Amino acid sequence: MTILDSSKGYQKYFEEITKIPHGSDEEKQISDFLVKVANDNNLKVVQDKVNNVIIYKDASKGYENHEPVALQAHIDMVNEKNSDSNHDFSKDPLDIYIEDGFLKARGTTLGADDGAGVAYILSVLTDSNLKHPPLIGIFTVNEEATMLGAFEIDTELIKAKRLINIDGEEEDSSMTGSAGGMDIFISEPITRDTNKTNGYKLVIRGLQGGHSGAEIHKERGNSNKILARLLHALSKEGTIQLATFNGGLKINAIPREAEATFTYSNVDKCQELVNKITEEIKKELEFTDAGLTITLENIELENTIDSKTSNDIITFLYLVPSGLRHKSDHLQGLTTASENLGIVDLTDTTFEFGLSVRGALDSYVQDLADEIITLGQCFGYKPKTDNWYPAWDYMEHSPMRDTMAKVYKEVHNGKELQLYAVHGGLECGIFKGKCPDLDIVAIGPNIYDVHTPDEKLDLASFDRTYTFLCKYLENL
Ligand SMILES: [Zn+2]
Repeated sequence: MTILDSSKGYQKYFEEITKIPHGSDEEKQISDFLVKVANDNNLKVVQDKVNNVIIYKDASKGYENHEPVALQAHIDMVNEKNSDSNHDFSKDPLDIYIEDGFLKARGTTLGADDGAGVAYILSVLTDSNLKHPPLIGIFTVNEEATMLGAFEIDTELIKAKRLINIDGEEEDSSMTGSAGGMDIFISEPITRDTNKTNGYKLVIRGLQGGHSGAEIHKERGNSNKILARLLHALSKEGTIQLATFNGGLKINAIPREAEATFTYSNVDKCQELVNKITEEIKKELEFTDAGLTITLENIELENTIDSKTSNDIITFLYLVPSGLRHKSDHLQGLTTASENLGIVDLTDTTFEFGLSVRGALDSYVQDLADEIITLGQCFGYKPKTDNWYPAWDYMEHSPMRDTMAKVYKEVHNGKELQLYAVHGGLECGIFKGKCPDLDIVAIGPNIYDVHTPDEKLDLASFDRTYTFLCKYLENL
């Protein structure tokens, strides 16, 4: 007994995939399964050293002279489960069921992100009744963690100038671009006095935070920047010696909390100055981050760092840009460049700093990163960069997009396909970085609540999007 309709190739493959564990970093089994499907269907297949799989299918009759088309999906899923679920992701099949037209998995993520894409591609590759150009199915590992698969793909194996990424989550819209990015780190040695003294603790709480790609345009408060601003205001009216400064947990999350302990020479004005700046910031964030609280208390502290080093750190953090930098005039609402001061930490021996930059163009990323690096160098720091990934730049002329919009309209009775770009990083950007001529589109059926145990796949949309994909291939 199957849950899905096994007479439809993509439904049959989707159900088979749910039986194979395939969290990020655990893709060997599903990778081998893909190789087996290829072999069973006499399709040429390559499995590379990181377990990416590439499957080739000849053109159907009459399409032999058409340019090849690559179809791409990632084979890993995010393993999330409810706290009361005893599902073992390392061996248990997902417990799938249908409810009100949606496919779900009991207590866990469903892996429709990106099992739906994988199932579509397998279905297309194994169906001899379709019309299409030569096809290259690209199945990548580890998209949800490091995008290792896309980075490792050997471009010699994917000689195509057209690519359909099937990792979208909205049937009626198609992605046309994604951000590139880079992280900048500073780790600077500090020395501490051995002392015990009276001082202050300044605490920032109550901010909403959010993802540095998806939410950076919402003008939410950044706890590290707010704390630096307060300390900088104090430093103009007295001398500060920091004992601690820490805020933020992840470089790609807008920090919600931060706190610092320090001594301050101007004790009479400390509270008054904090109150004044607090009022100003609360007013600025009244409509975007109203929950902000800033508290100052007297405490005993020890082992402060000297006033010059403290002042440098405070001034540097005050000057570092963070937040929305540029937005698109062309694609409404799209952030095209931003920074996020994600992590600050004064450890016993070092000043640690982590900031991520994103940009819709690689040049934005480079320029923003250069700004931070140059600023850091002015203070004698030695900033380092890491985790670079390229942008998928919006293409003014994209025959792939034009054909897709035309076919979408035909299949959906005149309805227009929506186009959008995201300020997050995608595998498409990595492919674009490797093959600058690649014309890319991204599609997918309606999937909701991805990366959570409530993830659900709209089955009617799953059918319609497959019909659309086949029609699209016929027109390429
Ligand atoms: Zn995905």
